[in-house]
Amino acid sequence: MYNFINDQQQSRIIVKNGERMAIGRLRLKERGYDFPPYRPPSEAYSLLLRVTRGCPWNKCLFCSMYKGIPFERRSLQEIKGDIEVAAQLYREVPRWAFIGDSNSLVAKTDLLLEVLSSLYEFFPHLERVTSYARAKTIARKDLDELRKLRKAGLVRLHVGLETGDAETLRFIRKGATPGEMIEGGLKAKEGGFELSLYILLGIGGMERWREHADSTVEVLNKIDPHFIRVRTLIPQPGSPLFEMRKRGEFTLSSPELILEEARRIILGLKVTSQFLSDHISNYLPLNGEMPKDKQSILQSLDQALLNLREDPSLLEDYRQKEFLRHL
Ligand code: SF4
Repeated sequence: MYNFINDQQQSRIIVKNGERMAIGRLRLKERGYDFPPYRPPSEAYSLLLRVTRGCPWNKCLFCSMYKGIPFERRSLQEIKGDIEVAAQLYREVPRWAFIGDSNSLVAKTDLLLEVLSSLYEFFPHLERVTSYARAKTIARKDLDELRKLRKAGLVRLHVGLETGDAETLRFIRKGATPGEMIEGGLKAKEGGFELSLYILLGIGGMERWREHADSTVEVLNKIDPHFIRVRTLIPQPGSPLFEMRKRGEFTLSSPELILEEARRIILGLKVTSQFLSDHISNYLPLNGEMPKDKQSILQSLDQALLNLREDPSLLEDYRQKEFLRHL
């Protein structure tokens, strides 16, 4: 249910189920505010702030997000300028903020501490700030610096694991080994952060789906992150994998295999994480708390697999997902 309300500056803000959405995109844009182009779905109601532009790695085969954006570090002056502009319009509004782009932890810790301090100073109702981060960057960051950032109010890190399979990680050019993923994940937890790990169903293709599933379970069980977020691979135009698929160098898994893969992963999990498939690319809404909801999630998957075997025409519905964009 959507409503419109007026904030103190008489601007219109969309409210969904009592939550404020997409803070001031239009009004801030026209004042030169620099928005990060991507944010996790869970940050839909957050103030979005850009600390860097693009991705310092930018080599993953499946990713098209920042391919045309050269990596840049923004100056503290520029970032503070955006904070001040946003505060002039929306000081009383944000409860959450997300800092982008793809790996804000590459910024110097002193700069991030200044940014966090400004955010909490200018927005009195702010409760949490979150960011994307690469596992390798977390692993390299000094633990004391991570703790300082956490203490300054950086609460949650969103990290792309994609797979725990060493060969698949190499193939997709993720730039991290399973060991580095585990090291980064555990260090984030040791630093006090809430850790949100993303896994990518289908990234092992037809050939390595079992290895992908089993090794992903192994890494997730070792880290036991606070959140496990699932996405399903839909190669995007602009990504190297999209071209490889066109040339016949990569075969996309069938929807049935994706469901089998999800089943194998969930079955193997021994974690206390919240499991979320909060993305439009996924075939099924599989959400719950582990281990409490594990059986019911497995039952939903078994039912979906049974339905698919009894009525193969359902495959077409699943395949429609391929036309979705913006993974
Ligand atoms: S998946 Fe993440 S690390 Fe890899 S290129 Fe995309 S933004 Fe960069």
